[in-house]
Amino acid sequence: MKILLKGGTVVSGQGTAAADVLVDGETIAAVGADLDAAADKVVDCTGKLLFPGFIDGHTHFDLEVANTITADDFATGSRAALRGGTTMVVDFSAPDKGDTLHDGLRRWHEKADGKCVCDYSFHMTVDDWNEGISREIGEMVEEGIPTFKMYTIYPAMMLPEKEMFFALQRMKEVGGLTGIHCENCGVISALIEEAKAAGKMSPASHPRTRPNQLEAEAVSHVLRMAEVVDTPVIIVHLSTKEALDEVRAARARGQTVYVETCPHYLLLDDSVYDAPEFIEAAKYICSPPLRTVADQEALWLALASGEIQTVATDHCSFTLEQKRMGQSDFTKIPGGMPGVESRGVLLYTAGVAAGRITLEDMCRVLSENPAKLYGCWPRKGVIAPGSDADIVVYDPDKDSVITAADQLQNVDYNPYEGYQTKGSIAQVYLRGQLAVENGAVQEGCSGAFIRRGPCTL
Ligand code: MN
Ligand code: MN
Repeated sequence: MKILLKGGTVVSGQGTAAADVLVDGETIAAVGADLDAAADKVVDCTGKLLFPGFIDGHTHFDLEVANTITADDFATGSRAALRGGTTMVVDFSAPDKGDTLHDGLRRWHEKADGKCVCDYSFHMTVDDWNEGISREIGEMVEEGIPTFKMYTIYPAMMLPEKEMFFALQRMKEVGGLTGIHCENCGVISALIEEAKAAGKMSPASHPRTRPNQLEAEAVSHVLRMAEVVDTPVIIVHLSTKEALDEVRAARARGQTVYVETCPHYLLLDDSVYDAPEFIEAAKYICSPPLRTVADQEALWLALASGEIQTVATDHCSFTLEQKRMGQSDFTKIPGGMPGVESRGVLLYTAGVAAGRITLEDMCRVLSENPAKLYGCWPRKGVIAPGSDADIVVYDPDKDSVITAADQLQNVDYNPYEGYQTKGSIAQVYLRGQLAVENGAVQEGCSGAFIRRGPCTL
């Protein structure tokens, strides 16, 4: 089946061009002005922007955490992703302590295979250290899982410093790359203990026990460790201007550091935690917490300057009922928010249409850079001959409103309720198949597990 997308503007990280796109089967056959090709179907894309399918490098579907399980599994989460223009997700496989990495990988395949309607892969969480895991890190890279995750916080997840150092050395040896959740564990525990002793049990204590400095400290700590190992790392969900300064300092020393932030750190701020009603504040509990307007501005500037490479969602959704588990204790509120469905329209509206970033920046942070960072470039992340025909057709003139009532995310609230978008997604193609039309996910979409190679960013 050949489809000709005619008359649109093709966006890449380097520029925009008026060009037609010929799709043949699962891949792109040609891109050029006034393509005169025979096609089974011609789609008029006049006035539309054509982006390479967005890649979300940070989701948590079907995850058991905080004595519950995320509201979205791979079926609901991936449908929401597709609807929002995300044609590939990289979720986090988290083996239980004592399990092998292969046990974790098998479990995540069981969760995703046959259920995930967009393309997918997994990062592998390393939260334990022994000879077997060290060996398996090399095997994972060979099996197309070249990216890993480590934590400096959460006793169940964090690796002690010595083990984290060995793990980073091993990454360097086998060409693996690690994303790290950076928050200072010890001081946050102390602040939580103090807040509880003072009877301050409401959600307002969440940001107060996790101040900016404690993200920056952990980023600095990890980057100094990476400097000694001499290996690049990814700082995931970076949220503060102070942490950005630590990244800048490391780069000035000559280190390679990749940075991810999330839409909620760009669009929402910590004033939401002062809402008088518990649930209104609990909706927004995530870690790191939402920050100040000044932090938002610093992050937007860093996106525009190229200091932040990618925007992922950290989609980790819970219903309001689940959030109520922390009614009398803010530390028992499951942390995380839905977001996989709205990343593209939010970046376009608050970024491109607001003049904070360019179309090229948007393409880089949502498509091109994650494809390179996560080792699937140029199969993904670009509209070019030979690449997978993952294409988002964006209509900049059809404004919309984000509401929970309208979403596919399996939750009963939306953090951006009532938000007016500039433009909306008209169509999404997944490897050549029409996956979304006018907001409706089409029947018969089927995601493929994507084997990944080394980082090329
Ligand atoms: Mn995290
Ligand atoms: Mn996460």
